[in-house]
Amino acid sequence: MRLFFIFVFVNSSDYIREKGLKATPARVKVLDELSNTDLALSHTELESTFSKVDRITLYRVLKDFEESGIVHKILDFEGITRFAVCAHDCPDKTHTESHVHFNCERCHKMFCLEHTHTPSIKLPVGFKASGINTVIQGVCKECA
Ligand SMILES: [Zn+2]
Ligand SMILES: [Zn+2]
Ligand SMILES: [Zn+2]
Repeated sequence: MRLFFIFVFVNSSDYIREKGLKATPARVKVLDELSNTDLALSHTELESTFSKVDRITLYRVLKDFEESGIVHKILDFEGITRFAVCAHDCPDKTHTESHVHFNCERCHKMFCLEHTHTPSIKLPVGFKASGINTVIQGVCKECA
């Protein structure tokens, strides 16, 4: 188990550096946490998992990650912003990912369904999409 954690730690800091940021302990911790789940986590959820990361640091870490293409954000049905790890080829803040998110009505979890792609949508003439944010509402497999 110990080895596993060391591996995750090294991995996260390398990845953060690869994306052009300094691998500070707070950044590594946040990325470890988000990499360990297929859920999109809110500020509050992330905050509750660390006792030593304060609110402002966490806010900055997430902002830096979002601008560097490490995480993307999604709004859930309660209007809460949630964060999930991007695919490794996400270029930067333009966030080209086109996968679906699933918001469970019972447990209120937001799943980042990385392998479920958004169907292509035909827009009226003159409209140019720069991104798409698909959230499906329903009951997840744990609550069904
Ligand atoms: Zn992205
Ligand atoms: Zn659920
Ligand atoms: Zn996602």
